[in-house]
Amino acid sequence: MQQRRSFLKHSALGLGALPVANLLGSAAWAAGEVELTEDDPMAVALGYKHVAEEGGDAGIPRTENSFCDNCAQYVATQESWGTCNIFPGKLVAAKGWCNVWVPIPAS
Ligand code: SF4
Repeated sequence: MQQRRSFLKHSALGLGALPVANLLGSAAWAAGEVELTEDDPMAVALGYKHVAEEGGDAGIPRTENSFCDNCAQYVATQESWGTCNIFPGKLVAAKGWCNVWVPIPAS
């Protein structure tokens, strides 16, 4: 009887830990994308800046009011950051910019 109680107690603890482990796994997956750095070779080549107003010094002038968050390549994933098709696996700043910026097509 004691063994049965012990088994049930430990099973319940084990099952209770599953959702927590699942949440931690999700957080680790979401954290798999890292912020793009401005000194990343591709970021340098494309004139990427976290602050759009500082962009446009790579030979291609920045259009006023062009930001990552109104670029067709951008998908917001969290506040102030999102993914970009040009920089796979990296997060770019919502108010960043690079010289590949292209407006979201009108629907
Ligand atoms: S392609 Fe668009 S979303 Fe990606 S870094 Fe350049 S401006 Fe930002």
